[in-house]
Amino acid sequence: MLEIKLDHTGSLTIPPEELSKFGLNSGDTVRIEADGELFVIRKLHQKPVFSLQETISRKNIETEIRFIRGVGPKLVELLAKKGIRTVEDALFCLPVRYEDRRQLVSIRQLQPGAVQVFTGKIISAEIVSTKSGRRFFEALLSDDSGTVLLKWFNANPVWMKRTWKTGRLGIFTGEVTIYGNQREVHHPEVEWLEDGADILAVMAADPVNFGRIIPIYPLTEGLHQKAMRKVMRQVLDSFLSDLLNPLSLSLLEPLNYLPLRDSLEQLHLPSSDIPINILNQGRTKAHRSLAFDEFFFWELGLALKKSGISLEDGIAFQVNHLYTKELVKLLPFQLTGAQRRVLSEIKADMISPHPMHRLVQGDVGSGKTVVALMAALVAVENGYQVAIMAPTEILAEQHWHNIHHWSEQLGVTVVLLTSGMKGKAKQQVLQQVADGSAAIVIGTHAVIQDKVEFYRLGLGIVDEQHRFGVLQRSILKKKGVNPDILVMTATPIPRTLAMTLFGDLSLSVIDELPPGRTPIETKVYFENRRKLVYEQIEAEIREGRQAYIIYPLVEESEKSDLKSATQMAEHLANLVFPSFRTGLLHGRMKPDEKEATMRSFKNRELDILVATTVIEVGIDVPNATYMLIEHAERFGLSQLHQLRGRVGRGTHKSRCILLTSGKLSEDAEKRLKVMEETCDGFRIAEADLEIRGPGDFLGTRQSGMPDFRVASILRDASILEQARNSAFNLIEKDNGLKTADGKRIKEELLRRWGTRLELAGIA
Ligand code: ADP
Ligand code: MG
Repeated sequence: MLEIKLDHTGSLTIPPEELSKFGLNSGDTVRIEADGELFVIRKLHQKPVFSLQETISRKNIETEIRFIRGVGPKLVELLAKKGIRTVEDALFCLPVRYEDRRQLVSIRQLQPGAVQVFTGKIISAEIVSTKSGRRFFEALLSDDSGTVLLKWFNANPVWMKRTWKTGRLGIFTGEVTIYGNQREVHHPEVEWLEDGADILAVMAADPVNFGRIIPIYPLTEGLHQKAMRKVMRQVLDSFLSDLLNPLSLSLLEPLNYLPLRDSLEQLHLPSSDIPINILNQGRTKAHRSLAFDEFFFWELGLALKKSGISLEDGIAFQVNHLYTKELVKLLPFQLTGAQRRVLSEIKADMISPHPMHRLVQGDVGSGKTVVALMAALVAVENGYQVAIMAPTEILAEQHWHNIHHWSEQLGVTVVLLTSGMKGKAKQQVLQQVADGSAAIVIGTHAVIQDKVEFYRLGLGIVDEQHRFGVLQRSILKKKGVNPDILVMTATPIPRTLAMTLFGDLSLSVIDELPPGRTPIETKVYFENRRKLVYEQIEAEIREGRQAYIIYPLVEESEKSDLKSATQMAEHLANLVFPSFRTGLLHGRMKPDEKEATMRSFKNRELDILVATTVIEVGIDVPNATYMLIEHAERFGLSQLHQLRGRVGRGTHKSRCILLTSGKLSEDAEKRLKVMEETCDGFRIAEADLEIRGPGDFLGTRQSGMPDFRVASILRDASILEQARNSAFNLIEKDNGLKTADGKRIKEELLRRWGTRLELAGIA
């Protein structure tokens, strides 16, 4: 029996000399069980992953930031705004840039364009008002060599006047600019000195802020650089040594990467031999090492998941060509090489006894529907059902039309499930799905997730279009017994991003368009060429072709000056093209009206279709060769690309005109330029990714995109590949991460990505 008092944190410490009495060693894991008034401690007979020392270290870096000396409630709040709650958060809060404060420059020597450190005395300080009524604060600073003007544009002038008093001496840091021949420094940082202080002595006594390359941290309003630097220094001094290096040197050294702790140390306290510009560009070995570390753990999660799936039992389909051969005979075209290659990759997966998890990427018009149908028929030939999920009702209907057309001729029953379906009709469809008489079921994500019971689901096809979600896949999986999963996406995803995001899926790319498609000539025109555009449309129609005119909105909104599609359609029909037949298509029409309009355009009963973006996923009219996109600057790049994909589908040369008002933002200008330059979906996707960044590119947080702290998918693509290879190799060598090293790595993986991995079904 041993009596122990809990300390104020609730920790329980068994004196080392007592351990052996209980058959315990330091590092053992014990369990405390309540037994009425008594508590029983039991030793767990499993080897702990971490030694006691390591366990303490891991606890330490989870210390809350409020326990750091000098961090009061106010600072806690400010730091929380920057996402810093624990010591660990702080360690990973990296400087945004660095300043070289090794040298003190005399005022005369100050060079415009560089951040420099200088000292001087305030000669005058006052509030200045410009003619336009703007107020700012200005101080003239002087040393023996000359003067420089300091300015603040958004500080509180009253507060400034209190501190910035004539005669005060200080050390200043800031970027020097030049106006006329007056050198100015805006918003300098200052370190005040006692009157008559020895500047060099002050600098020598304050190594956190002077005499070295110093880190500049990201701030938030009210949080000052000096305070932040002080906190960081405290954290580094007290806790950096507690940070464990999860990856072994034997893994890192051959790739020329540093252990985690060394990388962080170098970035917070850079040594003088690293050129400051390399630091500022984030290109040091330490930066790269951190990116590797982040990528590695993400890829490891994917590798674990992928190996898990490949071990599961799935359906081993047989390819007996009952329907697939027939379909090939029915098709009015031959499959492209890319379609055939992707199909054989899919079939190989379907034949294997493990579940397929494959992503098919293919640009608009690359012919994914036929590929999906072929895969579906393989499942149907084997007596299984297929679910096809589309992101929107229109797209589901479109799939149903395309697929129904062929499968009817093959004698395969296809049903469409929409949320608009009611009563008996719906009951009947659900019954057909449940008793197996419907072989292929098409619907939106929502419809298929919620209500449907399958008789024997063998294959799920998810048409993601340009949305990306991990959830749909896992829900679909549960509708059958480990069915095969095929994900199709129309938005070409740059390889690096696809790897990061869909690393647990195998990837197939349809990288070839059906023959006979000519590139679409694309031009950006300003409003002053509208007449020319109308003439071009007229000429095109006289040649027997058809045209689209696309508008961003359906109805005039009060706030915007957009001409609505409705109004414009009338205007075009009555005044501009009175002798042509003009139709209107927008999202607020009833489905059967939309249907009817689309059909008339398809049947050449209309020459011009004025439409909103609903046609983005809707129509396939090879005779349409002209597309005018109004207010093109308001559309996103991938949306423009999707829209443009509606023309250029036949043998005639097609044109796409991007009409803009002229006042373009920088990004809009970039987007339109890319559209002019290329029709290649992959290049457009890369450009889109570059302009918007990964988060926006994917559109949503639920995309499953990890938020890396340091790593950038764009900048560090090659590091990502290395990390991926290392992670996948590790899983291959140490399957299930069972070795001592593997266990620690897995532990760290769960610590970092725990909840996210659960979502992805790994943990
Ligand atoms: P997406 O990949 O955008 O879904 P679709 O499957 O809608 O493309 O195909 C676009 C058009 O190309 C359709 O009219 C389809 O019938 C046609 N198509 C598909 N494959 C071929 C091919 N190998 N040769 C010629 N036309 C094809
Ligand atoms: Mg499609």
